[in-house]
Amino acid sequence: MAAVQLKNIVKHYEQTPVVHGIDLDIADGEFVVLVGPSGCGKSTLMRMVAGLEEITGGDFYIAGQRANDLPAQQRNIAMVFQSYALYPHLTVYENIAFGPKLRREPEASYRPRIEAAAKMLNLVPYLERLPKALSGGQRQRVAMGRAVVREPALFLFDEPLSNLDAKLRVQMRAEIKSLHQRLKNTVMYVTHDQIEAMTMGDRIVVMNAGRIEQVGKPLDLYDRPANLFVASFIGSPGMNLIAGILSMEEGQPCLRTASNLRIPVPSPVPASGAQQGQAVTLGIRPEHVQAKPSGIIPLAMSIASIEPTGAETYLYGKLDGHPCCLATRERMQIATGERLPLHFPIELCHLFDSQSGLRLN
Ligand code: ADP
Repeated sequence: MAAVQLKNIVKHYEQTPVVHGIDLDIADGEFVVLVGPSGCGKSTLMRMVAGLEEITGGDFYIAGQRANDLPAQQRNIAMVFQSYALYPHLTVYENIAFGPKLRREPEASYRPRIEAAAKMLNLVPYLERLPKALSGGQRQRVAMGRAVVREPALFLFDEPLSNLDAKLRVQMRAEIKSLHQRLKNTVMYVTHDQIEAMTMGDRIVVMNAGRIEQVGKPLDLYDRPANLFVASFIGSPGMNLIAGILSMEEGQPCLRTASNLRIPVPSPVPASGAQQGQAVTLGIRPEHVQAKPSGIIPLAMSIASIEPTGAETYLYGKLDGHPCCLATRERMQIATGERLPLHFPIELCHLFDSQSGLRLN
């Protein structure tokens, strides 16, 4: 097992920069999830760590050793991809044994590791089968088995669950997590799915356009996003965002919209240097919006659509022209076209600088 350090990692393809200086420390045994929209550089970063892609600039350390120029085979890293990359003509056992066999390890030495991995991954009944006779989830487990028997210092997962259906994804998510709890290995896990990121990672790294936007524990990112990008990326349905101007109304900071709607907002911290008249954006999560009249200035949403999911219902509509969503566990008696009074509890509101995107409160 090993700690990993990335110091100012840069990647250019030809002349095009795609990763712009990534700094990240991953502790030994930590499960870190890289999340971000398609094209933000997650796979490129993983491929540089794996040794499949040259690092243009910066320093990469694994277990304290600089590994920029170490060939992939010597990095002691196992990678699990979205496409399981199993050999179709080899059985499950042979697929899992492929690495040790290639290294000419005697079978007596690796067989117990394969048997242990097969047991852990519920593959014992399938060891003599060919991949084509397995389900998607079983194939994914074989790919993990192959990674596990290598006993690597670092596991890399690149969107390993994207090819699975929704139910299996939930199940495999739990399996990978429990595998990590047993093996206590260091993991870097790439996904574009923020639910996967929230539920699996000890820490989440949110990436955007080749840069890190924020690193933190899942609920810290959810509760205190550092900027508008993270606020809108983490959470589903996404955080409601309403842009306006910061104004003081009888000693209370408020957001004043273009149509003169006034919504009380949290006080910006003095260090943010926020000024009256500055363009700011108010954020509030759908589950924090309350369906009741607000204090001084009434807010109301005209309901455009209603989505019952069973546990929760999402109400979508417009608040003074701004798209707005409310999530509730109540079964509300309301129809589209009706108006619903809203209250935004100030302690659950977020405030951002519209220009820089940075959090102000
Ligand atoms: P992600 O995994 O977050 O979807 P990638 O790391 O695959 O993103 O890609 C990051 C950026 O680098 C994208 O703009 C992509 O088009 C570009 N890119 C990836 N691979 C290559 C390549 N081999 N040559 C040129 N550009 C590439």
